[in-house]
Amino acid sequence: MSELPYPYEAPVSQALFDRAAAVTPGGVNSPVRAFRAVGGTPRFMVSGSGPCMTDADGREYVDLVCSWGPMILGHAHPEVIAAVQEAVARGTSFGTPGEGEVALAEEIVARVAPVDQVRLVSSGTEATMSAIRLARGFTQRTKVIKFAGCYHGHVDSLLAAAGSGLATFALPDTPGVTGAQAADTIVLPYNDLEAVQEAFHRHPGEIACVITEASPGNMGVVPPLPGFNQGLKDACEKNGALFISDEVMTGFRTSRAGWFGVEGVVPDLITFGKVMGGGFPAAAFGGRADVMAHLAPAGPVYQAGTLSGNPVATAAGLAQLRLLDDAAYDTLNGVSRQIQALVTEALTKEGVAHRLQTASNMFSVFFTDREVRDYEDARRQDSFRFNAFFHSMLAQGVYLPPSSFESWFVSTAHDERAIQKIADALPAAARAAAEATA
Ligand code: PLP
Repeated sequence: MSELPYPYEAPVSQALFDRAAAVTPGGVNSPVRAFRAVGGTPRFMVSGSGPCMTDADGREYVDLVCSWGPMILGHAHPEVIAAVQEAVARGTSFGTPGEGEVALAEEIVARVAPVDQVRLVSSGTEATMSAIRLARGFTQRTKVIKFAGCYHGHVDSLLAAAGSGLATFALPDTPGVTGAQAADTIVLPYNDLEAVQEAFHRHPGEIACVITEASPGNMGVVPPLPGFNQGLKDACEKNGALFISDEVMTGFRTSRAGWFGVEGVVPDLITFGKVMGGGFPAAAFGGRADVMAHLAPAGPVYQAGTLSGNPVATAAGLAQLRLLDDAAYDTLNGVSRQIQALVTEALTKEGVAHRLQTASNMFSVFFTDREVRDYEDARRQDSFRFNAFFHSMLAQGVYLPPSSFESWFVSTAHDERAIQKIADALPAAARAAAEATA
């Protein structure tokens, strides 16, 4: 590492991490931030501008995490910041309806055709949790199908993984989720329509909904095989269940209308988060008017939130969405393609077995030579190679997701300078991956 331009140590971040560990479990407020998968000191960031972030040790990184998706225009975009400042100056929360939340809902409804109505919440977790409650209330059924490797936030009933292979009943994935909470969740392998049909066959009249990431990014990028999402939709329709497409990650990122805009499969309910909040806690779920009409106060299914539709968050989200026109998506796609090509070239040159998978401008690298179609495939990669690759990139000032099971995210602010810095870092990182041992 010594010939690299950045020392590996990050003493100020380490001191902050030590302080944090005394008052916060594991020193972080969301587990992946702790770098447990890759080891080392998590970087405490103090500022961001465009494609870069600066850490507490004063080092600058080109950011390929973008706050796990939200910062699609880069950090501190002047128009988003201006909208936030203007909103903040008028007060930060009223607990009453406000025009900003109407405007944001109108923007979402205008962009995503299957969404007739939308309810704003504060996190993606709340969005999926509420969508599932609504689906259960609407169908008067209890069971939910989800797919192994798809993450929908830390909703109790969705923190469940298949007990074995094609297990039908889920087991809790974490202490604190009861067997009863997981028992109504059926976990199936991703991209396996036969398993879905069999589950509907085994549980006639019991399945309220199928929830899937529109195009999964939480096991690395594993796009749906052609016909998979349509097959889910058809199976739901045939069996009286609702099809919930979780677009918390893909929404307003993979196109103007998210993954729906890419594939055109019409869900009954869609969940959103990340990009629509402009870096603030805002998320949403929406869909068919007759289903949404079951939500309180219009209908009997209860759902609420003190900070739902918060005026500052909605101002940020609206400003960001309004800047995301066709030209912005062209830019994102172009940046993504450039970085993909550079990564492929560097790893190929070093003879590292890898598989770069994409979903529009989302992509990730699996250290395996086989196509990754589901979670089992994803787990078969050589993660130790990713860890070496990650640390080399970090040491050279490029911030990748600190896990091989995550999508990489780009922004419209990733300019030639940022891309050049990535290009310069890749050869050594690819060499580190090639030389890594398990
Ligand atoms: N759904 C998907 C597809 C996600 O990627 C995430 C978060 O990464 C969530 C739901 C949960 O969102 P949040 O972290 O805002 O609760």
